[in-house]
Amino acid sequence: MAKDSKIQWTDATWNVARGCSKVDEDCKYCYMYRDSMNGTRYEPKEVIKTKTVFDLPLRIKEPSKIFTSSLTDFFHEDIDIYRDEAWDIIRNCRQHTFQILTKRPERIEEYLPSDWGEGWNNVWLGTSVGSENGRQRIYDILKVRTKTRFISFEPLWSRVDMNLDISDLIRLDWAIIGGESGNENGKYKYRPCEIAWIEELIADLTPTTAIFVKQLGTHLAKKLKLTDRHGGDIDEWPGSFKNKKLPKTMDCINGDGRPVENRDTGLCATCGKLDRKLSKIKLPDDPKPIKKQSDEMSRMMAIYARVAAKFLKRNPRCAVIPTLPAVEVHHRAGRSITAYYDEWAEQRGICLLLDERLYLPVSREGHIEIERRPEWARKMGFTEDRLILAKVRSENQEL
Ligand code: SF4
Repeated sequence: MAKDSKIQWTDATWNVARGCSKVDEDCKYCYMYRDSMNGTRYEPKEVIKTKTVFDLPLRIKEPSKIFTSSLTDFFHEDIDIYRDEAWDIIRNCRQHTFQILTKRPERIEEYLPSDWGEGWNNVWLGTSVGSENGRQRIYDILKVRTKTRFISFEPLWSRVDMNLDISDLIRLDWAIIGGESGNENGKYKYRPCEIAWIEELIADLTPTTAIFVKQLGTHLAKKLKLTDRHGGDIDEWPGSFKNKKLPKTMDCINGDGRPVENRDTGLCATCGKLDRKLSKIKLPDDPKPIKKQSDEMSRMMAIYARVAAKFLKRNPRCAVIPTLPAVEVHHRAGRSITAYYDEWAEQRGICLLLDERLYLPVSREGHIEIERRPEWARKMGFTEDRLILAKVRSENQEL
């Protein structure tokens, strides 16, 4: 069976049923309703078990990402009576990755299989949130036991303020973002999506969340005069998106079908560790040329080595990715040996390099993320804007 899906983030779609009932305004222009009403014999409100495709994954030999389900909601109450049959198929298809997207995340826990444990490696569980109306679903999906958790912010038709603690944000492995497509009039309408909403979402999500911007939607395509009618061509997008180096895909699976890495950052979606071979981030393989140090610099560096080691001993967890140990210090305001943070530091001769108040314990991966995403780092308080440090005298001897 060939892989067939036109959806960019999956290989195939599998529908255990066809039909659904709308949950809220996020469902307003539901694709299934549009499609089903478009001259077919199906009644969209009736949830009917599929026949010929119910066992489709068993017939797909090649390991595939399978979107489960595009024409219904896998956790719809009408599927309760045969969902276990679907779980059996998923259990027997370890070679595939099942991407289950639901607008009913509050029902997930009750309807997981008995041997689910902390989740199966071959299942991603996600929910859709297109506006602030769907905020509760963010909290609900965070409560679910799963190895891979995601949110689809599509169609995004209002600002969604993530406003979560970092301990919650880092548990979101993947985020799909997209504007709505459609026409100005008739049944196939669309709601506008704004660039600022997409940018804010990207900024709010943590370094360990892989971002997949699927399309900008019809409104932005028109506004920006894009050739692609639905704004789906990444080459046409504004620089602000491209500069964030968005992953186009999470297409990596290891031997048992587990998604392990995000090819853009090289960070494992499961454990958050960096895989240097996979990372597109240019890491300094070769040491930088060593500057000749003055005696004063050498003295400062010797002091710094001791201060930093003690600091890391007291602060063993990475402030950016708390699941990782801290192995180095990030200096929130730089590492000058002739500049001071304030008068208190200047009176005591504590330059920026030695000022522990500006230290942040970080893992190598966390440090890379701060350097890679300066605006986000500033927003999170990981980096101080040096221009606002009134007492800084000089940056000339930055290390
Ligand atoms: S939950 Fe999904 S399939 Fe069901 S009506 Fe809403 S958008 Fe459509």
